[in-house]
Amino acid sequence: MINIVLFGPPGSGKGTQAEYLIKKFDLIQISTGDLFRYNIKNGTELGKLAKSYMDQGHLVPDEVTINMLTEEVKKHTDAKGLIFDGFPRTAAQSLELENIVKDVLNEEIDLCLSLVVEDEILVQRILERGKTSGRTDDADESIIRNRIKQYYAKTAEVAELFKEQGKYVEVNGVGEINEISEKLFAEVEKVINKGK
Ligand code: AMP
Repeated sequence: MINIVLFGPPGSGKGTQAEYLIKKFDLIQISTGDLFRYNIKNGTELGKLAKSYMDQGHLVPDEVTINMLTEEVKKHTDAKGLIFDGFPRTAAQSLELENIVKDVLNEEIDLCLSLVVEDEILVQRILERGKTSGRTDDADESIIRNRIKQYYAKTAEVAELFKEQGKYVEVNGVGEINEISEKLFAEVEKVINKGK
């Protein structure tokens, strides 16, 4: 099994690149943002709670997010590999992710792929996506800027933990989508060739 964290600020292309990675390496994507949106659409209690945070561009509390993620990982014990998209977003979540992957799958995170994109490009990209995504958190510039602020305040430090473990690789997230994918593929292949 190969387990990858796809990391980067909102609008850096995690969702887009996850689609290419899952096809190329036959992986399962676990996106906490998608899981929350699914719950919102279905009017669940979890969805109602998450919405109150998401609409403001705040992070959903760790406990709620971690429980949801754990349940999702348990569904995919026979996967060839997992891509975590939008999780972990706090230091506490990254420690929990290590535990979950170990306890539920008897595996570890192999690689953290980080997409690097400067802030003003992120804002423009998300506003553009908001024209068609139907996401309220994509439509309002102040909410978008708040999401980016949360990223620097709470999420950026997650990178340090993966750096310490020698599992962190940055890839420029600006350019042609397929060129970025190729760079990501090459990093995954390095891990596979190491005997994964
Ligand atoms: P995303 O689709 O990844 O951009 O996530 C959209 C929103 O869902 C975020 O702005 C947060 O409010 C919430 N969310 C998604 N993943 C997480 C997470 N790992 N921790 C806390 N909140 C999250």
